[in-house]
Amino acid sequence: MPDSKCPLCHATQSQRLFSVGSHDLLSCDVCELIYIWPYPQDSGQVYDSVSDYKYDDLEIMSAETHFESSKLAYARIYPHIRPYYQTADATLDVGCGTGYLLDQLREFPQLKRVGIELNVPRAAFARRAAECDVYEQPVQQFDTDQRFDVITMIAVFSHAPDFAGLYSSLRNLLTPNGKLILHVGEFARNVKRNAVFDWEVPDHLHFMGLKTAQYLADHFGYKIVHHYREPLADLIFARTTWRAPGRSAARNRIKRLVTLTPGALTLLKSIYKLRHGTSIYNSIIVFERTEMG
Ligand SMILES: [Zn+2]
Repeated sequence: MPDSKCPLCHATQSQRLFSVGSHDLLSCDVCELIYIWPYPQDSGQVYDSVSDYKYDDLEIMSAETHFESSKLAYARIYPHIRPYYQTADATLDVGCGTGYLLDQLREFPQLKRVGIELNVPRAAFARRAAECDVYEQPVQQFDTDQRFDVITMIAVFSHAPDFAGLYSSLRNLLTPNGKLILHVGEFARNVKRNAVFDWEVPDHLHFMGLKTAQYLADHFGYKIVHHYREPLADLIFARTTWRAPGRSAARNRIKRLVTLTPGALTLLKSIYKLRHGTSIYNSIIVFERTEMG
């Protein structure tokens, strides 16, 4: 595909996987990033569109519903990331949403908690829920002398353009040996279109391939110190996932029905595994800041 440069490594060789709506999904031959094509050229515009998303329209989640569904998601994530806060003095949650994680982190009284959330209603909700500072500006423009021992980006990777600017800025905000923790989907190159119910393109700009995290680490001054990969099938058919309210009322009704039908989840899970194997992982990746050589 001509001119379809990878937004992460700028390689021009890629494989076209399939199309979603009016976009193609391409998999970069070098860093394996999967990215939408056409890819937005102006990252400022992407950030602006997030700031005034009207989550109330289109049956999309209100801040209250978001906070409730965060509870279920974080029940799985939190045990993995909790140990990193034990000796930390300050943490930044990038894309903190309605502030569920920041609220949880009150259990560490020594910890200074700060959030970044571009969506205005969610940022306001987070400030009330977590009672800490939440800034409404992109990391690249976040001007502070504070350095953080732990920075989290939970389900943010696919929304955030400007790799070089973002991952360099994050590194500058970390203390020496500080940790950047990503919760993210990782996709093998043989992933099928119907392995994902809704790719949410173009809200999602790109997805991690199996080599992408290592590429990020090697090029932006990090090393990976923990890489936990859970096959997505185990997560999407977990009862808690199916109980979590989503954006669509119709889907929520189907979900409720399925969780009330004995054996339905186990059956769906085995069918899904047969068809898709383990082409998708739900991952927690811990990057440690290294000195650039
Ligand atoms: Zn690439």
